[in-house]
Amino acid sequence: MLIFSTIKRIALIVCNFYLFSMNIITGLETKNISYCGIPFEVLGNNSSEISYILIHGDEETARMLLKNHIKKNNGRAFIIKSKTREVPFGPTIVDPNRLFSNIGARRALKNFKSDWDRDELDNLLIELEEARVSFLFDIFPDKGGLLIALHNNFRGYNVEDELNDSELYSIKKDENPRDFVLCTNANDYQKLKDGPYNVVLQNRMKKNNNGSLSWAAIEHGIRYINIETRLGWLSQQRKMLQFVEKRLKK
Ligand SMILES: [Zn+2]
Repeated sequence: MLIFSTIKRIALIVCNFYLFSMNIITGLETKNISYCGIPFEVLGNNSSEISYILIHGDEETARMLLKNHIKKNNGRAFIIKSKTREVPFGPTIVDPNRLFSNIGARRALKNFKSDWDRDELDNLLIELEEARVSFLFDIFPDKGGLLIALHNNFRGYNVEDELNDSELYSIKKDENPRDFVLCTNANDYQKLKDGPYNVVLQNRMKKNNNGSLSWAAIEHGIRYINIETRLGWLSQQRKMLQFVEKRLKK
């Protein structure tokens, strides 16, 4: 038991270890953080109440937008260091945006590996839960701040899939249903709903959630916005991001 807790402590230190590196070519300091071994690059600075995250490595439009946006704006951007949607995790691969609740993570970890030893899976989930606390502490903004996630879709996923989990929604007939904004704060929703884009409000915790970051934001009372657009629709996603930031500054 003692050995196990020591191993766990060491694993945690490794999990949450901050790596600092110096980009020799640009001379800029690059910081990296990890969520239980899943690496993220941190760009930008601390002088804004807005932070950004890219959590799916294959969503290139969102990556392009975010990397460009953070050069011209204040704030921190957390960008996953992966080119694929699923990332290596323990003895399997997993969708990193399904690891933000125990119930979601358990389901996601069984997706690509069905023959788990029960103890092995339980121990990994305990380790993940502990790593989650410090990762969320790192990425969640200070009180009142905003976390914006950028996503792209290419498999038919659209706003209709979110309506059952939404308290309020505003669907625009001229907008593509695959382009939408999801928010977790009722005040933000009120400011966004009359704009040109599809908007949904999800602010009530659902016990049987899918483990995406939005549910952790709801659980912790964090203002979180997901800007979801079709892959390749860069100018649309840029316009949506500009709209969100302009409206929420008021
Ligand atoms: Zn995504």
